[in-house]
Amino acid sequence: MRIALSMLGFGLVMLSGTAYGAAEQAGHGTHWGYSGDVGPDRWAQMKPEFSACAGKNQSPINVSGLIEAQLPPVKFDYKQGGSEVVNNGHAIQVNYDAGSGIEVDGTRFDLKQFHFHSPSENQVNGKSFPLEAHLVHADKDGNLAVVSVMFDEGKDNPAVAAAWGQMPKSAGGKNALPGKVGANGLLPANRDYYRYNGSLTTPPCTEGVRWIVMKKPLTVSKQQIETFQKTLGFANNRPVQAVNARPILK
Ligand SMILES: [Zn+2]
Repeated sequence: MRIALSMLGFGLVMLSGTAYGAAEQAGHGTHWGYSGDVGPDRWAQMKPEFSACAGKNQSPINVSGLIEAQLPPVKFDYKQGGSEVVNNGHAIQVNYDAGSGIEVDGTRFDLKQFHFHSPSENQVNGKSFPLEAHLVHADKDGNLAVVSVMFDEGKDNPAVAAAWGQMPKSAGGKNALPGKVGANGLLPANRDYYRYNGSLTTPPCTEGVRWIVMKKPLTVSKQQIETFQKTLGFANNRPVQAVNARPILK
């Protein structure tokens, strides 16, 4: 469990700065989960470092009530870089080599890792999806931007297959990937997106995260969904949170 906890906060272990330091310290000795006494409705009370979980700008949300905006394209600069796959006890995560990223708001955010939730965490107009990918990026100051991609059940996804080929069966497991996995394979051809400000969806639920939710879902096969759910052994989706005063842009 120690290894799993050190991967807390989406496994942002490779990040420097105070946000990460706080996240790591918050994790030690605190076994949060997705049900019962350690489930999402208890996170904020579990320890002071998790108090943001009761904040007003939390993720995930039901993406609806959309406001028309002229959202500029996100500039994607992804190279083949998925190097190892980790079962951190909360999700299946692929850690990414340096050198890939996106540009949002005129700022470069480096791709650190991507991971998956089943069923989806965010919803779109009340619709839940069987799988959601989170591509987690950080700028040089530690600010976070997460690109979310939804998956419907359908044809299998080759990038997902490559990433999950070596999926560790137990929490704390980590396997090198035989070939570098490309995050481009997790992006729809049409890059239109919804945007809102939210948080990490896991403790410490840090706010100030730029959320970029791709409008077009991709597909994964029924078998891929079942393999993921069986390996993790539980649903790893935090329930949708109140939108409160936030605009959601399209
Ligand atoms: Zn996530």
